Amino acid sequence: MTFESIDRILGAFANRIRTPEQRQLQAVLTRWPEVVGKSAIAHTRPVSIHRNILYVATSSAAWTQDLTFRRTAIMRNLNRCLPDPLHDIKFSTARWPGQSPPTATAAGADVPHPSAVPDGPPPDLSGSPRPETAIAAFELWAEKVRARSRNWPSCPRCHCPTPPGELERWSICRICMARER
Ligand SMILES: [Zn+2]
Repeated sequence: MTFESIDRILGAFANRIRTPEQRQLQAVLTRWPEVVGKSAIAHTRPVSIHRNILYVATSSAAWTQDLTFRRTAIMRNLNRCLPDPLHDIKFSTARWPGQSPPTATAAGADVPHPSAVPDGPPPDLSGSPRPETAIAAFELWAEKVRARSRNWPSCPRCHCPTPPGELERWSICRICMARER
C-alpha cells in the first residue's frame, strides 16, 4: 500500500467526522497518549463518546481497574481541551477487538450489572467491508492525528496542542477562543 492510498483512506475517515461527538472524540484522541501515559497507550482505545460519556476499550480487567481508579484525573486533563466537557469515562474490555461480549454466566469484574445502561452506540464504521479493517484504519488515522499534533505549539491559555494557524489568528486556540465569546 502506498502512502498516497493510505492518505486517501485516512482522508475519507477524517471527512466522516462531522458530529460534535465525533469531533470531541478526535480531540480526546489527540490528547490521549499524554493523558494516560506511555504504558497505558497500547492497552487502551477511546472508541466513542455518547452523552458526554467517553467509552474506552481496555485490553484486560486489570487495566480497567487501574484506569477507573485514575478516571477523575484523566477526565480533568481531557476536559481542559474540550469545548464540551466529559461527565464520565467508562472503561471496559468488552469492546477490545477480538473480545467476545460478556455473558451472564461469566465471572469477573467486567460483567455488567443487569440494570446497567448499555454502552453508547458503536463508533461509525459504516462503509467498511470488515470491522477489523475499519478499526485498523481508524487507528492509523488516530495515530496520524496524534503525530501531527505532536509538533504543534501549545495554546498559552490551556496548554493544549494547537494548530499554528489558530495561534497566528487569535493568539490562543479555537476552543479558548470559543469560550471567550
Ligand atoms: Zn487553548
